[in-house]
Amino acid sequence: MIIKGRGVSPEISFGKILFYDNTIKDIKRYSVDNPSEEIKRLHYGILMAKDDLDRLYEDALKEVGKINAEVFSIHKMMLCDEDYTEFVENIINTQRVNAEYALAVTSDNFSKTFLEMDDEYMRARASDIKDVSDRVIRILGGNKNNIASFEEPVIIIAHDLTPGETVQLDKTKVMGFITEAGSDNSHTAILARSMGIPAIVNAGKIDESINGQFAIIDGTKGECIVNPDEDTLSVYEDKKKKEEEKIHLLKLLSGKETVTKDGRKIKLYANIGSPAEVKGAVANDAEGIGLFRSEFLYLDKSDYPTEEEQFESYKEVLTKMGSKPVIIRTLDIGADKRIDYFDLPGEENPAMGYRAIRICLDRKELFKTQLRAIFRASGFGKVSIMFPMITSVEEVYNVKAIIREVKNELISDGIPFDDQVEIGIMIETPASAIISDILAKEVDFFSIGTNDLTQYTLACDRQNEKISSFVNPHHPAILRLIEMTVNNAHKENIWVGICGELAADLTMTEEFLRMGVDELSVSAPYILRLRGKIRSI
Ligand code: PEP
Ligand code: MG
Repeated sequence: MIIKGRGVSPEISFGKILFYDNTIKDIKRYSVDNPSEEIKRLHYGILMAKDDLDRLYEDALKEVGKINAEVFSIHKMMLCDEDYTEFVENIINTQRVNAEYALAVTSDNFSKTFLEMDDEYMRARASDIKDVSDRVIRILGGNKNNIASFEEPVIIIAHDLTPGETVQLDKTKVMGFITEAGSDNSHTAILARSMGIPAIVNAGKIDESINGQFAIIDGTKGECIVNPDEDTLSVYEDKKKKEEEKIHLLKLLSGKETVTKDGRKIKLYANIGSPAEVKGAVANDAEGIGLFRSEFLYLDKSDYPTEEEQFESYKEVLTKMGSKPVIIRTLDIGADKRIDYFDLPGEENPAMGYRAIRICLDRKELFKTQLRAIFRASGFGKVSIMFPMITSVEEVYNVKAIIREVKNELISDGIPFDDQVEIGIMIETPASAIISDILAKEVDFFSIGTNDLTQYTLACDRQNEKISSFVNPHHPAILRLIEMTVNNAHKENIWVGICGELAADLTMTEEFLRMGVDELSVSAPYILRLRGKIRSI
């Protein structure tokens, strides 16, 4: 059997198919003869869940850093809460019912109470209580799998994965993933590429009877061969060997200049989503970080990261990159990147709604906390700040006024910072590209976000797999906007880069160089291929 979809993260890998279903549905209620035995079963489940959470914390600490790992220690604390366990025990005792049902009732009850509270922090606990109860229910139901820990190499199949779930995937165990839904430029696909996990999206409904079977995933072709015969397996083993040889050859480009045959130098930077991804950027010889998607510090957390926590993350990235530049993009939340504790309103059209800079300008304190953390970290390396989703020059004026406030506060608090930090904006809306002549007078650089620029120019929601055949990132309208932006940037003597996924499209490299693009920022696995391409032009 062959599963076909859109290959969104290249390379070939092998593993056992594992269906991942994160929804707990239809918990059965049944009577038990011996409630005290059932309570023992409950405590066994809680104990196992605590073990899992300890392991997850340790793994996450290594992979995604302390801030993102903390969610697991908060969940463990919840399982230690006596009010919670007494409530579950009480239901088992008085109603003489199974532990799973008692947990589900307790979870509903506690999360409702949290949701009714005035305090935003407490309201955000509602989803944690659900997560942690579901974990114990899964264990009691004999299903110990969760998105972050597997005992053997697996290829995950899910209806869809959120960016938060994807960032938690354990790269040593997850050989690839396939989602029934999803699109090429969703953040889930982007994360798969930057984490180096082969992935296929938009595969349509997949028959669950293949669960547990051995399979080959080809993330380039967008195919997964389930239960392959010996000949097919050896063809793919050969292919994988060749891929590895290619990667080995590419490593020879490490340490070489990114320069065209006629001597034009291009800045070749990496896109990252967490401090842990700096390792991949350095291993692939990135000349800087062209896009640090800072929202991943907020995603997968159960509460707003504090100024101190953010400062530590930015400092870690800057220190690890040494003298190389790091461009931190401020919080780009909203659309597909939802966070419970932000309490974002439900919207008909979230990609065109309350997101990114709009939230930051509206919730100024939140924005200032992030800016303070970045400026405080600015002494530890070469940082620049970039703002997402700009559509008007007034937004840039407002951002600059807030930066002035933050700097003045730091001065009066006696906190040192680098006053020369460069300020740039993303050009990812048609409006910003069209007025790039005006915007170029206000900032130090532009970085073109082709993912959103494509979605907004072609009126194609990047999350909607139904319209993927209408999405043409090479559309002349997009290329004209890019060229117009480059020309306007250069008229004002500022540099301009591309950090959207199109930057890694080798069929476009020559065209981008012709336009005069100064910088390309791509996921770590694409850096050396792109350097090879540029050196051949
Ligand atoms: C883009 O829109 O091209 C971009 C780089 O930002 P993101 O993919 O995070 O929206
Ligand atoms: Mg964008």
